[in-house]
Amino acid sequence: MRAQVISRNSSPSKLKAGAAVYNEVIPAGEGWIHEVKAGQTFRIVAIGGAQAVDALFYSSWDTTERYSAQDTILAQRNIYLKTGSRLVSNLGRPMLTIISDSFGRHDTLTGACAAQSNQVRYSLDKRYMHNCRDNFLAAIASWRTSLDKRDLSANVNFFLYAPVSEEGELSFGEQTTEPGSFVEMRAEMDVIALVSACPQLNNACNANNPTPVRVMIWDA
Ligand SMILES: [Zn+2]
Repeated sequence: MRAQVISRNSSPSKLKAGAAVYNEVIPAGEGWIHEVKAGQTFRIVAIGGAQAVDALFYSSWDTTERYSAQDTILAQRNIYLKTGSRLVSNLGRPMLTIISDSFGRHDTLTGACAAQSNQVRYSLDKRYMHNCRDNFLAAIASWRTSLDKRDLSANVNFFLYAPVSEEGELSFGEQTTEPGSFVEMRAEMDVIALVSACPQLNNACNANNPTPVRVMIWDA
């Protein structure tokens, strides 16, 4: 049975792909890190659809300032991220604003998959499976930053539908993201974007088939 279709806050993009100053594909299940300067637009595309994209953001100038799920939810008084949402830092400052989006209900409650959670949720032998937390750690190890595992906090899960019931129960809904679904954010400060094309195979967040993710940047 198909999940009930929820009205989405869909808004088209005005940007032309050929004008992007950065255009790369993150292979299925891999991590990525890159700086996005203030005023630039950052687009993430779920090329194959039904693909969770875990993300964290840090101020380029002081990485102790970083994305805060709690401050973002409180500021907008809504648990989903969509067009118009401001991703707020732990200092209460806007880091990025979602300016265009075809999904309309990005999650920031369910966290990133990890060796530890895979063991607890599924089974001990899942410990060695590829996961987002390890992708984050490998990416920050490759970057000119002092970030380490203690800096991995509650993240955004773009393109993940994780509904909360009236009773407050959290679940992974059926992932019906269309191929080519995208989200665009304008950076409000210089940020380091840390991204994982989620490799999870133990639940439905990638429809049991992790796929590549496109990342693009436009100058202001
Ligand atoms: Zn994951």
